[in-house]
Amino acid sequence: KKIIHLDNITKNYKVGTQVVRALRTISLDIYEGEYVAIMGASGSGKSTLMNIIGCLDTPSGGTYILNERDVSRLSDNQLAEIRNAEIGFVFQVFNLLPRSTALENVMLPMVYAGVRKHDRKQRATDTLNDVGLTDRMHHRPNELSGGQRQRVAIARALVNRPSILLADEPTGNLDSVISEDIMKLFADIHRKGNTLVMVTHELDIAKHAHRIIKLKDGEVETDEINPNPVY
Ligand code: ADP
Ligand code: ADP
Repeated sequence: KKIIHLDNITKNYKVGTQVVRALRTISLDIYEGEYVAIMGASGSGKSTLMNIIGCLDTPSGGTYILNERDVSRLSDNQLAEIRNAEIGFVFQVFNLLPRSTALENVMLPMVYAGVRKHDRKQRATDTLNDVGLTDRMHHRPNELSGGQRQRVAIARALVNRPSILLADEPTGNLDSVISEDIMKLFADIHRKGNTLVMVTHELDIAKHAHRIIKLKDGEVETDEINPNPVY
């Protein structure tokens, strides 16, 4: 099943009287269950593409079909609705609520999604189990290590069962041993059938994905199956 269809996507930014062409005609499809890394040098358009895929921004031109729905020209409110329903975000900074426990942080997205109160705690607990934090549920972020915080953020991103898990430099704030742990967790999440799209400028991280797309100057330079994903 096709989850993402990008057809001749362009994105221009106006800076004073200049127009920056951040994306020039990107066309690509991503299918359910794929694990994709988007790579490229600084300025190649990774964040711009990520923002469009994640419905944080709309393209200047072209068509984006997400799960059979055309999301190319939606209002901010419509985009927010789609985001909440379809996308789980993981960032370099964990964005956890500092005064809330891991469990409360993971329960929060279900409040917005209208999950019944009775079910929220159970689902959050199950998801924290899945990311290996069974014995840290009642800790606050400042009582957790960086890797554990990122696990909470990953649980929060997954708890509403999004169509895509979208990760932007997910290990950017972690040392290499902990990063590898997080990559193992991603492999696990992928194995369970989730669709993962990860933006990274590090080859060591990208080589865990099963497909690697390289951007250059706002275009797809290469789009290849990784013959030897790490896990
Ligand atoms: P990457 O994430 O690969 O570093 P970006 O998507 O951030 O690339 O940037 C692509 C191009 O678009 C760059 O030339 C960048 O300067 C420009 N750009 C990105 N965001 C903006 C913005 N909000 N306003 C103007 N130019 C931008
Ligand atoms: P709302 O639904 O009220 O518009 P936000 O715009 O704060 O809420 O967030 C909507 C989604 O976008 C959330 O899933 C959140 O994780 C994500 N998000 C928030 N801030 C950023 C950011 N700076 N970059 C990328 N994604 C973000």
